[in-house]
Amino acid sequence: MEFRYTPTEIEAKWQQAWTDAELSQTPETSDKPKFYALSMFPYPSGNLHMGHVRVYTIVDVIARLKRMQGYRVLNPMGWDAFGLPAENAAIERGVHPAKWTYQNIDQMRDQLKQLGISFDWTKEVATCSPDYYRWTQWIFLEFFKAGLAYQKEATVNWDPIDQTVLANEQVDADGRSWRSGAKVERKLLRQWFLKITDYAEQLLTDLDKLKGWPDRVKLMQANWIGKSTGAQVTFTTEAGDEIVVFTTRPDTLWGASFMVLSPEHPLVEKLTTPEQAEAIQQYQEAAAAKSDIDRTAEGQEKTGVWTGSYAINPVNDQKIPIWIADYVLMDYGTGAIMAVPAHDQRDFEFAKKFDLPIKVVVQPPDQTLDAATMTEAFPGEGVMVNSGVLDGVPAGKGKGQSVEAAIAFLESKQKGKGTSNYRLRDWLISRQRYWGAPIPIIHCPKCGAVPVPDSDLPVALPENVEFSGKGGSPLTQLESWLNVSCPSCGTPAKRETDTMDTFIDSSWYFLRYPDANNDQAVFDRTITNDWMPVDQYVGGIEHAILHLLYSRFFTKVLRDRGLLNFDEPFERLLTQGMVQGRTYKNPTTGKYVLPAEIKDATNPIDPATGEKLEVVFEKMSKSKYNGVAPGDVVDKYGADTARMFILFKAPPEKDLEWEDADVEGQFRFLNRVWRLVTESGVGRAINRVSTHGNLSKPEKDLRRSIHTAIKEVTEDLQGDYQFNTAVSELMKLSNALSDAQKDSPVYAEGIDTLLRLLAPFAPHIAEELWHTIGHSDSIHTQSFPIVDPSALIADEKTIVIQILGKTRGTIEAATAIADDKAALEQFARESEIAKRYIEGKEIKKVIVVPGKLVNFVVV
Ligand SMILES: [Zn+2]
Repeated sequence: MEFRYTPTEIEAKWQQAWTDAELSQTPETSDKPKFYALSMFPYPSGNLHMGHVRVYTIVDVIARLKRMQGYRVLNPMGWDAFGLPAENAAIERGVHPAKWTYQNIDQMRDQLKQLGISFDWTKEVATCSPDYYRWTQWIFLEFFKAGLAYQKEATVNWDPIDQTVLANEQVDADGRSWRSGAKVERKLLRQWFLKITDYAEQLLTDLDKLKGWPDRVKLMQANWIGKSTGAQVTFTTEAGDEIVVFTTRPDTLWGASFMVLSPEHPLVEKLTTPEQAEAIQQYQEAAAAKSDIDRTAEGQEKTGVWTGSYAINPVNDQKIPIWIADYVLMDYGTGAIMAVPAHDQRDFEFAKKFDLPIKVVVQPPDQTLDAATMTEAFPGEGVMVNSGVLDGVPAGKGKGQSVEAAIAFLESKQKGKGTSNYRLRDWLISRQRYWGAPIPIIHCPKCGAVPVPDSDLPVALPENVEFSGKGGSPLTQLESWLNVSCPSCGTPAKRETDTMDTFIDSSWYFLRYPDANNDQAVFDRTITNDWMPVDQYVGGIEHAILHLLYSRFFTKVLRDRGLLNFDEPFERLLTQGMVQGRTYKNPTTGKYVLPAEIKDATNPIDPATGEKLEVVFEKMSKSKYNGVAPGDVVDKYGADTARMFILFKAPPEKDLEWEDADVEGQFRFLNRVWRLVTESGVGRAINRVSTHGNLSKPEKDLRRSIHTAIKEVTEDLQGDYQFNTAVSELMKLSNALSDAQKDSPVYAEGIDTLLRLLAPFAPHIAEELWHTIGHSDSIHTQSFPIVDPSALIADEKTIVIQILGKTRGTIEAATAIADDKAALEQFARESEIAKRYIEGKEIKKVIVVPGKLVNFVVV
């Protein structure tokens, strides 16, 4: 028997043994309750980073725990494999995107296996495989048939670096691409959209069902959906055309003194008088070149042009001028607003700039507003004035207040109705790139957009294409692929050349895993409905809006198409924190310094300038020289140590600071566990059972430690997974075992328990030691320890004896005595230790804390 802990040897051995025994495979049918553990699948960049290791380790502990707790577990893995990096690699290096992608997948799969993650590899999916994207296309056609996929001409976000359009969700607050970082431009293009707005209300209200989601993520989604309630009001132009506006403050209608239309509003041309035509046209052209974000940014100088026409305010028949301004967007609300400058700051600034009338209709309780002297809008509450039937009504959104009264008035006059508006826009899914799932549509000059028949799916990506990086997607230049006959009428027709946003691929992958190898259907409904919803999902907070919102949308649509029988895909969500590395940064130049160039880590100096460097923890990245390669850690300490460190260093949802010293600490802990088992002679002791009846005091104490550990670890791994405190409990138990008498059956029980508790965290060493103590089956097929409540009860308590507040020793008291104040005082007085110190002295006072302490105040 070897006594040294050598992770490299035992880890490879057990990984192979587990694969041979198919331990991670998903049970097909069983009476056991199901548990679906899911990690957000990675983009196959070729290299696993520490962030990946953290997510997969977390999910693996949960999956292994649930198996030991008697669940049938599905723990799958796959690849979000379409996307631009592969295509860029093709352009830069001349390697086909498919080849590049599959090489990367092979490399990352090997790295994952080294970590001992118990994925069921028989269910692996890659979204770029025709076996997968055939069904992505099939699902697109389900949306198309339901009227939820449509084409429209739209001003879109154009990424000039990646040469493609982007969804709104993929443009950040600075107007930059989420991927390339390029400043997004505006372009008018005919594009495919998914009608996520049809589901806005459900996506919002069903957030309440997600009890196991972080509030932060739910709030981000709610804000993104951006529901506001108010009224739709119909204004009429002098020519009799109707202009519908949405307002959250219909009660301020009496204060509306002008209207503003988006420059793209379809009525602008008709409303523009000949005198204003030139100015309007120039303004429209300038607005078209600006992004939505630039147009709506706060603090912008207000611009606009009068059309020359008027509208009639429906509540008081006043004539008000109609302007256009770029801060009104065509695809938000109705593309037109009523302006109430006295009570809306943006309208106020606009009115001041162009000298338009301001009319106060809400008076605050503590002052009297005068339109002539106001310096800013008053958006607050008060009492309605100058508002006809609303005069005297308290201003506000509550019951019996002005908004409610205004809606009732509008509805009675048929001038408007109460309604809601959402910030959420339809999802633009067209991408002018090659490496994605082709949109399965054929454009026929007679029939229009015709779906590719199911039997012709997948519309496969042609392989013999040139990647020049210029002139958009190579698909547009491949005549042999482009030209087809219409499936409906046979007329020569053309294929759609846009591919789908890769976020579509990831919006349904979790539905495919339970039945990943089905070549007849997208999935067997019985199988997928049985496994879904996902019981625990783990991934990054950066997906709070994009992926997590899209997946919820897909689930609801496929439910309405009769494919699914549940409303929400992910029961519980854990968003893990970042893994940060130590950086050395020059505070003046902002430059990062390589750790190798630092001579004294306690006093880091920039070798170039001699300045003292700033030391901070930041997200690991190559440019900051603070990355730690998972492979290096595994080679040096083993996968079990890497896992233990990641789990112990921080609670899972918090950021984690990588400290080599703490990695060492976990390696030392596993070595201690190793010695506890191998050096104690506890081996070959399979059937040792503690005889609970006649245990000595130390044995009883040890048993209490064992079962306290079971209780604490089990609690830490319920609901909110607190792996860090669970690992602390394992350390406490190992300390208790170190101090214990090794030939007791309770010690054997302790080792058995320690190994089983450790198994989900450090699966290789637990397995090796399990065999060391004489077992021949896998520890990962054992049950998780269950607490014996009777072992937790202490029948004696340790009481501290103090003289004048100074601890002089301890005594053991039966629980009944220890918890009784008077009895404990008597018992303490008679103890040897107290007698020694109080003999011959006068006791002035005795302070008794039942169960804990007795303090004699003597003179
Ligand atoms: Zn046709």
